Amino acid sequence: MEMEKLVALCKRRGFLFQSSEIYGGLNGFWDYGPLGVELKRNIKEAWWRDMVIGHDDLSTPVGAPGSYEMTGLDCTIIMHPQVWKCSGHYDLFQDSMVECRESKRRYRYDQVRGRWVEAKQERIFVTTLAEADHEEEDTTTRALRYFKLRSKQTDQLNWAENFETLPEVDDLSRVLGPDAKTLGTLGEPRNFNLMFETIVGALGGEKDKAFLRPETAQGIFVNFKNVCDSTRVKVPFGIAQIGKSFRNEITPRNFTFRSREFEQMEIEFFCHPDASPDWYQYWRDRRMKWYEDLGLSSERLRLREHDADELSHYSTGTADIEYAFPFLPEGEFGELEGIAHRGDFDLRSHMEGKLDETTNPLQIELGADGQPKWRGSGKDLTYFDADSFDQVKEDLGLRSFKQYVAGRSEQANPGYPFQFIPHVIEPSAGADRAALAFLCEAYDEDKQPDEKGKMQTRTVMRFHPRVAPIKCAVLPLVRKDGMPEIARDIYRAIKPQFPVFYDEKGAIGRRYRRQDEVGTPFCITVDGDTLKDKTVTIRHRDTLEQSRINIDDCVDDIRKHLE
Ligand code: ATP
Repeated sequence: MEMEKLVALCKRRGFLFQSSEIYGGLNGFWDYGPLGVELKRNIKEAWWRDMVIGHDDLSTPVGAPGSYEMTGLDCTIIMHPQVWKCSGHYDLFQDSMVECRESKRRYRYDQVRGRWVEAKQERIFVTTLAEADHEEEDTTTRALRYFKLRSKQTDQLNWAENFETLPEVDDLSRVLGPDAKTLGTLGEPRNFNLMFETIVGALGGEKDKAFLRPETAQGIFVNFKNVCDSTRVKVPFGIAQIGKSFRNEITPRNFTFRSREFEQMEIEFFCHPDASPDWYQYWRDRRMKWYEDLGLSSERLRLREHDADELSHYSTGTADIEYAFPFLPEGEFGELEGIAHRGDFDLRSHMEGKLDETTNPLQIELGADGQPKWRGSGKDLTYFDADSFDQVKEDLGLRSFKQYVAGRSEQANPGYPFQFIPHVIEPSAGADRAALAFLCEAYDEDKQPDEKGKMQTRTVMRFHPRVAPIKCAVLPLVRKDGMPEIARDIYRAIKPQFPVFYDEKGAIGRRYRRQDEVGTPFCITVDGDTLKDKTVTIRHRDTLEQSRINIDDCVDDIRKHLE
């Protein structure tokens, strides 16, 4: 699939627009149009339903080590600045960037790609920011311009076989920057913190500086105690949140894939340390299956376990769910979701202070004065499993937990295994990347006969009915003989149940194609027979199969595909 076609369709049919487009747009920001907003809401609602409200707290799901509870939160985007200091984002949430002296632009160091070329006895590295299928064309055009050659003289360019990224290039003085005309204009890579800063209140001093959250996860950690104290949830349980996150990405690109404002769908799942490896396996597989069930194909979707050397030492596993987006080079995949075993790193950081990620066992990072560099909340975020203790209390001949702890006071964790800092499994997904993957997966072209029997190319978005923006269209065959009246009644009966579109204008074939192009899975047509026997035709987008059903069965017939 060519990405341009999808981008054009998204604009033409109202899935995605560039933010503030009439003012020339703002790089890295996107608006969802009338159909896009439905698609994205459907994704978020499917996630919330499948992970949170539809979850059965009493049964053990397939593959899970046991039953568990799920609950939700909706936290603020701006939080106490100490949150980001303790979480590590203030010091460490940075990317390496290079700045071009000539164009004054900044680029993410590891994302600038290019290839070596030799001509006129000079060897240079030509970079490009073009998407995968235009990289060759773009580097060729730029090399011709640099060497002052004409397009007929491409044979004078001797190219290295492979594209490489900037970190693989030793000598930046040989590099032609992505927007530069002269060589060696890129400076040495520097670190750049990705958090957006803002000022809270009217005074606006340094101490009022705050940050737009770069992830929703921290809101969950800092509310862990509130949730435990205000509900009756017991470990193991998960807290879910959907919300906006902001990252001042150095080079936003690839349509919405890397945006500066985006939405995340995150779960922090709190469990007993001993059971955490099993819960990690469960969540990894569960999340992968979610995408498969919603129609992402197996050959473009993969689950990639991180190698041991990619893992932080406090994690026993991290996996990415990845999709082969069409704008990536052949064989490359882009992250849709990360599932990480995070141990007790986050809760401990918010309790004791920022931890030094490189220490093993984890130590609090100290400042020059020997005090914690960033102080934690000091609140007790341990969990006491009273039920488990009560079960064994009598066998152990104890009256109270205090007595249990007193008897083990020489141990590092005297309350263990009944009192502990829960370990966390974090499935962290992006709603926008999911929407983009569903759009890429859905796009298809096939050949279908038009009214005159002539084969025509049909663009069809093969969305799973659950994510399709419009579930069904109601179409009177002609605008007479009472057909529009019946069709409008059907439309009104369906409308309170799910999104439906009424269309009576133009030839029926053209109306079908307009619906195929936005992925409407079903079309209901009112025709001459409807007037006689109260049946309508239901047409299936993918198979083009048409069958007759009773008018009264329309809602139920469609609903069974939405579950
Ligand atoms: P990447 O390596 O692609 O920058 P990441 O590993 O930093 O991603 P996480 O911090 O794990 O991403 O965030 C969890 C999810 O949030 C990602 O899997 C992705 O779906 C989404 N996400 C992260 N950054 C962006 C972004 N700039 N634009 C859109 N979605 C994003």
